[in-house]
Amino acid sequence: MMDEFLPFCRPGIDQSDIDAVTAVLKSGWITTGPKTAELEAAICDTVGAEDAVAMSSATAAMHCYLFAAGIGPGDEVITPSMTWVSTANLITLLGATPVFVDVDRDNLMVTAEEIEQAVTPKTRLVIPVHFAGAPLDLDPIRAVAEKHGIAMVEDTAHALGTEYKGTPVGATGDGIFSLQAIKNVTAAEGGVFVTGDAALAERMRRLRFHGLGVDAWDRDTQGRRPQAEVQEPGFKYNPPDLCSALALSQLNRLEQINARRAHIASLYNDAFRDIPEVLPLSPPGWPHTHAWHLYVIRLTEGTRLTRDDFIEAMKARQIGCGIHFQAIHRQKYYRETNATGHARLANTEWNTERICSLPLFPDMREDDAARVIDAIKSILQP
Ligand SMILES: *Cc1c(COP(=O)(O)O)cnc(C)c1O
Repeated sequence: MMDEFLPFCRPGIDQSDIDAVTAVLKSGWITTGPKTAELEAAICDTVGAEDAVAMSSATAAMHCYLFAAGIGPGDEVITPSMTWVSTANLITLLGATPVFVDVDRDNLMVTAEEIEQAVTPKTRLVIPVHFAGAPLDLDPIRAVAEKHGIAMVEDTAHALGTEYKGTPVGATGDGIFSLQAIKNVTAAEGGVFVTGDAALAERMRRLRFHGLGVDAWDRDTQGRRPQAEVQEPGFKYNPPDLCSALALSQLNRLEQINARRAHIASLYNDAFRDIPEVLPLSPPGWPHTHAWHLYVIRLTEGTRLTRDDFIEAMKARQIGCGIHFQAIHRQKYYRETNATGHARLANTEWNTERICSLPLFPDMREDDAARVIDAIKSILQP
């Protein structure tokens, strides 16, 4: 009998999530409202942030952030090429230049040294990425940004529940979480900006809804008086309560969700010790709690087939894999416009040809993980 297809990710929706969304549908209020306000408060509680502003996506939040920071022509923004395309796209759309820096070969995260070497008089902002659920080495990175007077916003899309040296990621500085469908907690689509800067939070809140002045949420007036005026032109990035209610319900289970992900990851870790063709990412060398957003392996040099052939072979065995990420500087637009870093991105290039994300989601069973491990053995060690 053919096995059922095992996707690389499936959102873990339970009855309480369905009930939470159904309640919003029946409430007479489906767009931004009380559930979004509750979600923002719950995110502050969970990550220890002072302020949170929910948006329709992490990309939307990043757009507002770059806009608020005044990023534009002539500015350089330092970011890894080994990340999701949204960051580089927004920098480019605003007329600024993404400056790609290399990542550590084995944890795929930028280092303070790489960032410092990329700083020029035009550098305005650095956007480091917490990768796969592991934290960046924030202390030295923040020190470099401060030393050069450069702003920093952390891409915390993978890092809900991640801790760095005992502190949740998102508790300090500015960060942007994603609630997209494959993330550890999902709103279907959504994102949350967190900050300790109350004035910036207020501006982001305004920018997410046409730049209108905002009052406390009120059911009858959608949180603002009908007379509210444009304070500055803004966007239309407010998240619907229908989505916020789903994320809020899931957030209640964050510990269980991440524990389940960690358990599946530990099964992979144990198995891959005996498979030399498979090189998982290394855990960072600093104290941390891992949120296990992704389980990324690399096929070692000398493996008998390419990564793309490997993914095809997994698919033939009814197993889905992902690639996180295809290096941005090698994608068509960025290749053709000669977007480059300050140096050759050797580790990024080495990894982009070898990385593969294996199935990892909270409803995965142990026998699903065993199936993935058996398939990998049969493909790589026939
Ligand atoms: C998912 C993701 C984003 C974008 O999140 P959206 O909510 O889809 O806009 C940004 N950065 C990283 C690293 C991501 O994985």
